[in-house]
Amino acid sequence: MAAYPPHVIQDVLSRVNVADIIGESVRLKRLGGRMIGLCPFHAEKTPSFNVHPERGFYHCFGCGASGDAIKFVMQQDGLSFTEALQKLADRAGVELPRPDSSPEAVARDQGREAYFKATQVAADLYTELLASGRFKAPLEYLEKRGIDAETVR
Ligand code: ZN
Repeated sequence: MAAYPPHVIQDVLSRVNVADIIGESVRLKRLGGRMIGLCPFHAEKTPSFNVHPERGFYHCFGCGASGDAIKFVMQQDGLSFTEALQKLADRAGVELPRPDSSPEAVARDQGREAYFKATQVAADLYTELLASGRFKAPLEYLEKRGIDAETVR
């Protein structure tokens, strides 16, 4: 497993549009600042798969799948992080530097994976806790601010 410095990864991500990449396999409809479609990662009849082109990420309220363009390619094509990064770099016309395969760099990539998993778990947990209705204060606060149920989710 090889690793790349964070600025290389950021550079590739800044040159691809997450909505273009997802739009190749998912039919997306614009809805304000985001785009929605049927989630490619779980079976559904009403779209709960949201793509935020400006912020560069996707999130499914149905199954919790979420991440950036690299994560989508990993999930969609069953690729490793490095393979997905390479695929997007090719597409964006970015030449990746020689991979850094030092133990530090490899650990950093694994950290990134762990980070994705951790944010996923946290997002699922908070969604569940809010939906459970056990905590009134945050719900009242959100209601007071006029935030609708969909956004709260
Ligand atoms: Zn889903």
